[in-house]
Amino acid sequence: KEKLIEVKNLKRHFKVDRKNVLKAVDGLDFSIYSGETFGLVGESGCGKSTAGRTIMGLYQASDGEVSFKGASVHAKKSKKELKDLTRRMQMIFQDPYASLNPRMTVKDIIAEGIDIHGLAKTKKERTDRVNELLETVGLNADHGNRYPHEFSGGQRQRIGIARALAVDPDFIVADEPISALDVSIQAQVVNLLKKLQKERGLTYLFIAHDLSMVKHISDRVGVMYLGNMVEIATSDELYEDPLHPYTQALLSAIPVADPQVERSRERIIVEGDVPSPINPPSGCRFRTRCPMAMEICSKVEPKFIEHKPDHWVACHLFDQPNQ
Ligand code: SF4
Ligand code: MG
Repeated sequence: KEKLIEVKNLKRHFKVDRKNVLKAVDGLDFSIYSGETFGLVGESGCGKSTAGRTIMGLYQASDGEVSFKGASVHAKKSKKELKDLTRRMQMIFQDPYASLNPRMTVKDIIAEGIDIHGLAKTKKERTDRVNELLETVGLNADHGNRYPHEFSGGQRQRIGIARALAVDPDFIVADEPISALDVSIQAQVVNLLKKLQKERGLTYLFIAHDLSMVKHISDRVGVMYLGNMVEIATSDELYEDPLHPYTQALLSAIPVADPQVERSRERIIVEGDVPSPINPPSGCRFRTRCPMAMEICSKVEPKFIEHKPDHWVACHLFDQPNQ
């Protein structure tokens, strides 16, 4: 498996005032393999969007590094190198409406990247390309002459996807792309993303606040809590054998269709609010809400270890590698 993205000790801190620093992302280590979908999950405020933007180079890193195909994302580059990188990494947003210029036709919105990167030699080539993209995402050429407000939420997300695809990227960060959509539309957008991935060999970082949203699209899933990664496993493994108490709590909050399973599954209630990332708890950041917390948890920060093959966790319950 080839690593497309490598994240090493990545931090992104924001200065709040003279004394306080918000540690939105505070030391992430993980890789995203070429052609996979890596789901990134956690409650709002856990730093997952900031992580996505920092990985894309939209935010500078406070520490650590990100590499894309072995080359640093944050290192100084020439204009040409920067342009090439911004073409290869694209983003899809939760609210495509906010990111679609209301005064531009859909055609021009989609063609913007094509123009910037000089991907069409003639006007006809540009039009053909836009129409092809519209069709690819389930819209048609007529839609190109309309404006964003004339579309439903699901259609607008399709426009956002077409715009991202227009420059032929390798990697797409999808930041809660389905969270704002009706449940009936969510599956359609997920299926579209899956289809595009297959056809174009895309790699996705798929951000969501809910584990049930990433289940069907992700090959692997990472769970974030207060700026830290607490667990990473393949999607199936994470749902079958969640190790971290926080992951277990997130999973037990998902309703199960089968009443048999529902009865056998213990509900784990996590109490209290997420503490502030300005002043996170000492030791394990989850300890103030963890039903399993022990004495050591307030004193020592748990290391992120590979407890089982390809299954990583940061929790003192798993300090000893599996024998
Ligand atoms: Fe809970 Fe301790 Fe594990 Fe943190 S390290 S998740 S507080 S048991
Ligand atoms: Mg967010």
